[in-house]
Amino acid sequence: MIIDPAAVVVLTLLGLAVGSFLNVCIHRLPRRQSLVSPPSRCPHCGYQLRAVDNIPVVSYVLLRARCRRCRTRISMRYPLVELITMGLFLLHYAVFDWTPLLAVRLLFACAMLVLFAIDLEHQLLPDVVTLPGIAAGLACSLFLPPGLLWALLGAVVGGGVLFLIAEIWSRLRHVEAMGFGDVKMLAMIGAFLGVKLVMLTFVLSSFIGGIAGGLLILSGRGSMASKVPFGTFLAAAALVASLWGDAIVAWYVGWYA
Ligand SMILES: [Zn+2]
Repeated sequence: MIIDPAAVVVLTLLGLAVGSFLNVCIHRLPRRQSLVSPPSRCPHCGYQLRAVDNIPVVSYVLLRARCRRCRTRISMRYPLVELITMGLFLLHYAVFDWTPLLAVRLLFACAMLVLFAIDLEHQLLPDVVTLPGIAAGLACSLFLPPGLLWALLGAVVGGGVLFLIAEIWSRLRHVEAMGFGDVKMLAMIGAFLGVKLVMLTFVLSSFIGGIAGGLLILSGRGSMASKVPFGTFLAAAALVASLWGDAIVAWYVGWYA
């Protein structure tokens, strides 16, 4: 592909602006607050942010990470989410070029980033993201890869496999192993990526979860019984599968053929 400098500029600015909106989603969705009103405020003193306080990354640096009025520290999460969103936009452009699939996978990536952050902080995967996500994934698959049939199979297999595992686990151990938020999230991933890549996502998430869990236990900050934000690992794995899944599967199949 030929890198178009105009596309890079547009996606950089769009990524930062969208990242700023994702911050609002990450803060307000788990609290069941409206995304449009009221305008952004300092959570400590209620100071209503003006446009100049709300420029992605730039305001954070200029304000030296403190509220303009009460000087309370602003979380690193805000510029971090904005920069990660920008990075994801550019990474997706490098993989998908300027195609219709780029728009679909960017939408998917934004939803994954929101679920990643909310599950990490609240151990919660809001229906208001996952349920419309399933519908959006199926609708996009009418016209674009993976195609409606593979998307439907992906949603059913993705959600179904996890549902079965959760059922068997909870019957064996007499505990609630996973919330159904994970099931709906995996159905959404299947609807966007198709059955092949949702299975890859599941495998990758186990690796990522295992490594993260191992590191936490080794560093003494967690135990085998710690509550696992499985949606966080699923989101990271789904992003890898969305970007490089086809190449990973081709490599894996070629290795055994
Ligand atoms: Zn304040």
